[in-house]
Formats: sequence, C-alpha cells, structure tokens
Amino acid sequence: MKFALINGDKAEATKGAKGFCPSCGAELIAKCGEVKVNHWAHKGGRSCDPWWENETNWHRSWKGNFPVDWQEVIHCDGSGEKHIADVKTQTGYVLEFQHSYLNPEERRSRNAFYSKLVWIVDGTRRKTDKLQFEKAIKEESVAVFKEPLILRVHFPEECRLLKEWHDSNALVFFDFQETKEINQSKLWFLFPEIATSEAYISPFSKQIFIEMHNENKFEEMVINIILPIRKELMNAMQIRRKNIEYGHPSSVSGFERYKANKQRGRGRL
Ligand SMILES: [Zn+2]
Repeated sequence: MKFALINGDKAEATKGAKGFCPSCGAELIAKCGEVKVNHWAHKGGRSCDPWWENETNWHRSWKGNFPVDWQEVIHCDGSGEKHIADVKTQTGYVLEFQHSYLNPEERRSRNAFYSKLVWIVDGTRRKTDKLQFEKAIKEESVAVFKEPLILRVHFPEECRLLKEWHDSNALVFFDFQETKEINQSKLWFLFPEIATSEAYISPFSKQIFIEMHNENKFEEMVINIILPIRKELMNAMQIRRKNIEYGHPSSVSGFERYKANKQRGRGRL
C-alpha cells in the first residue's frame, strides 16, 4: 500500500517506519528497497484485502494524479464487506488500476461491489495485447461515429483484452502508455456490454479523464455523453440485426427495394 496510518494521518513508507493498516488496523512495515516501489506491507506479506495487487510504478503514477484523500479509500458495503479502493473520488467513483490478470469471477464481484466503478487497465503487461488491439482496429473495425470517434470492432475475441473486458458492465479504459506526456496520452474507452459479438471503443484523452474526475465533471459526462451514445449504439445494433434476420440489406430502404423488384419484374416480361 502507498499509505499507512501514523498517528491517524496517511503517511508514505520511509525506511524503518511503522504504521497501521487503515483497513484492518494491523501493524504495517515500511518496505523501501531497490526493486519495488516504496510501500507498506502487512507482517507475513499477506494483505488483509484479497483484491489487493502489488503496486507498480504505473499504479503509483496514476494514483498521484488525484488528491491524497481520494487515494486508498476503504469502501464498505451494507453487509460489512470492505475493500481498499485505489481511488475514490468525491462523487463516489471508484477507480481501479488493474495491472495483473483478473479472473472473470473476481471481476464480476468487483463490478457488483462498487456501484460506480471505472477500470483503468494496463495494456502493456502482455506483449501481445497492444499488437492485437492495433490489429483489431486496423483490420476488424468500422467507424460508426465521427464526433467523438467510435469504432465497432468485429471479432473482439481475437483480441485478448477486448475478449476479457467487453462484457463488463462497468466503464473500462485501456492504457497502453504510449507516451509519458500526459497531454498527448490517450486511453481507449470501451463501451460497457453492448453485444457479445462486437465491441465499441473510443479514444479518450488521459488528461481530460483526470481533469474530469478532479473537477467532479465525470458523472455529468457519463450521463450526458456516454449513456446516450451507448443507447444509440444498442438501438442501431438491434435494427441492423433485424434487417439481417429478415434478409433485408440494411442500406436499401423499403421504397428502393420495391422499385428494384418492379424493375426486375419488368425485365422478365
Ligand atoms: Zn490490513
């Protein structure tokens, strides 16, 4: 963990320091070595939160974009179950920075536990992820929206990241860490659970993402932009499916079809 409690205040790990876990109250030991980022650990090394993952520099730099008060916040549900949220914003959004692989069951539990959850997924952990993602965009996608740009990716199962995340009901952003310059960095937003056979993705500025949370405007954006677009995408998909089911080519309107049939009929006479 980045923070332990010392005299009731959040404190970062320094050599030889002792603190207490803000979640379970156990004593924590400061780990300040060469390899891993400075952190606090429970005695015996096992975190009291089974969802906790060892932090990388990537986690730390993400957390550092938000106020200290928002970082590592204990979140408790009605049944008394509690977990440490990486970041919990003033408007109640929990941001989880996910580096390691998450099995589907745990992903679903977390989606259910946090009602306003945003995943930021490290797209650099497996070497193939970025290549597969780029290939999916290049070979398997069509632009369905221009402002903002939204791509529909067919065969999402050929890209492991999309396969793992595209049925999530939470908001997911992939971070491929293409540049250290925050104002040039982009994330890829994945629209939550639209279809099993397709995924819808949209580039999203990392800087704007961070600003929106810090300025408490993220929810407004979700309500006014993301949700209406998602609804539209779902409607368009249903219409497209219906046309396919009835054998109608979707680009031809009823009237044009009628005309085409008549002309064909005339040709036969
Ligand atoms: Zn603990």
